[in-house]
Amino acid sequence: MSSQRASTPDESVREISRAVRDGERSAESVTRAYLDRIDALDDRVGSFLTVDRDGAVEYARKLDRRREAGATLGPLAGVPVAVKDNLCTNGLRTTCASRLLESFVPPYDATVVSRLRDADAVVIGKTNLDEFAMGSSTENSGFQPTRNPWDLERVPGGSSGGSAAAVAAGFAPAALGSDTGGSIRQPAALCGVVGLKPTYGRVSRYGLVAFASSLDQVGPITYDVDDAALLFSVIAGPDPHDDTTAAPTATNGSESSPDADRSDLHGLRIGIPREYFPDSLPEDVSLPVRAAIDRLRGAGADVREVTLPHTNVAIATYYVLANSEASSNLARFDAVRYGRRIEHDSDSLAMMAKSRSAGLGPEVQRRIMLGTFALSAGYYDAYYGKALAVRDRLRADFESAFDDVDALVAPTSPLVAFPLGSKVSDPVSMYLCDILTASANLAGIPALSVPCRDAHPLPVGLQILGPRFSEERLFRIGRAHEELSAAPLPRSPIAMASAEGDAS
Ligand code: GLN
Repeated sequence: MSSQRASTPDESVREISRAVRDGERSAESVTRAYLDRIDALDDRVGSFLTVDRDGAVEYARKLDRRREAGATLGPLAGVPVAVKDNLCTNGLRTTCASRLLESFVPPYDATVVSRLRDADAVVIGKTNLDEFAMGSSTENSGFQPTRNPWDLERVPGGSSGGSAAAVAAGFAPAALGSDTGGSIRQPAALCGVVGLKPTYGRVSRYGLVAFASSLDQVGPITYDVDDAALLFSVIAGPDPHDDTTAAPTATNGSESSPDADRSDLHGLRIGIPREYFPDSLPEDVSLPVRAAIDRLRGAGADVREVTLPHTNVAIATYYVLANSEASSNLARFDAVRYGRRIEHDSDSLAMMAKSRSAGLGPEVQRRIMLGTFALSAGYYDAYYGKALAVRDRLRADFESAFDDVDALVAPTSPLVAFPLGSKVSDPVSMYLCDILTASANLAGIPALSVPCRDAHPLPVGLQILGPRFSEERLFRIGRAHEELSAAPLPRSPIAMASAEGDAS
């Protein structure tokens, strides 16, 4: 195998899968290169909770043997993928970053994981998150914080912070995350990588440990838009195990041919939601985003201002609904069927209370209490019922905007990566991180975050939102944004160190 070209940490998913399919590189050598980088540098970043060294190498070897026997490998041939640890992996520990599930080993794969495997990807490990995906910084993990590969004193965002950091550090060319109120897009933005939250129902939630079932979606985190589109094509599609999945309608299918000029946006109407550029938006975010919008206009897009008038109540609505659903979904972790049990000599209720108090962290407990309160008799109409009504208004805001424009463009996060510890004891300030992302989940629409390559010194994400099932349009705008940015995608200091490690 010594004639093989070494695998570098800046390779795309497309390059790896092509090279493995063509036999230029073995899946095993690619997998080992990424595992070596994780071994060398992840103790600085903390992006993985479990690295499946033996399982990954064995799986890669099987792919190599199949190829040697004449099989044509799938679209993700030999591509190492990091999977957020709230997605079930058969035989591999799945903790949701909760002490309560420290030793939970699922007996099945989530649909997205089995689709990765069917496409011949190699699952290399499980990434850190805020416990049960509740947070915006990955500091709410019951095990460890994850650090931002661009600045190790800062957060990677959350809750899919481990997945975004792993890609930004060069530990995996692609990862899966989940997004309930921004958890794919915000960490992607803060780590300088691409993240997609698909249309609600586009990707199966079977085997995703539920946080808020009416909002949760699984999506890819990658270096560039083409890789995100490739991963998305593998994981998307109806699933008999999730009745909320649907196929896109024909009119909303692919609309940019691969040969078209990627930076030509003539005929496309792009809306800039006024409310997503508040006066308080710091310049380190607003300037690169505005520069990107100017470039889209220069490429022929018809750019106009639009309004989403209920944006100011999105956070309150999101936190009532998400917490209400969480309080119900997390009731299953009662230490009877699921969860580490603290033995107790009196009754079973006391056992459950003790186990949940010991196993669940403070943010999860706060949310269960808030959600239980919002759903309780006498308060249901005032909180839960009201939030459902506001959700309809938020959805209607987007519908009327999309009567006039094809897509919306805005920042992904109101802040660049913030210092570790700076918000974790102030839940409201943490919740405000979701102001530009939660509405897309409430409305069920897709949204893509793509790095602004000229942001400096910390990454900034450009968010592109569209009507339901318009993922292909978002990819088209995201590709144009990439093409129009003269600079190549900058690499995080940890990814550079990964590359040096390969050379030495
Ligand atoms: N930050 C949001 C929250 O804490 C979103 C989390 C998510 O999307 N999983 O709920």
